[in-house]
Amino acid sequence: MVVDQVADGLSLRERVTVPGSASGADQPGSLAGGVRVTAHGPVLPIWVCAGCGSPWPCRTRRRELLIEYEDAPVSLSIYMASCLVSATQDMGWEPAGVLHRRFLGWLP
Ligand SMILES: [Zn+2]
Repeated sequence: MVVDQVADGLSLRERVTVPGSASGADQPGSLAGGVRVTAHGPVLPIWVCAGCGSPWPCRTRRRELLIEYEDAPVSLSIYMASCLVSATQDMGWEPAGVLHRRFLGWLP
């Protein structure tokens, strides 16, 4: 009897977990609110792309950011500047000019 209850508890937990994974598989890269999740996010503290291994922001992520911030270029500049500050702290060995070009030099 006790064993049956434990088994029921386990199967309940599985039932709770599986639908979340299934809905994620239905819409890869998307959240319920329509916000797109990129595979090309930064891996910290080394700031390489999780999607392609290039220095972040990689070519793909730059293109995505330009589209995402099409109507808010100032916000994109502020976001990238904040990333530059974090990256400068994380990668003290990298010359500041290189990081500046990498994070801000491609902005329109
Ligand atoms: Zn990438």
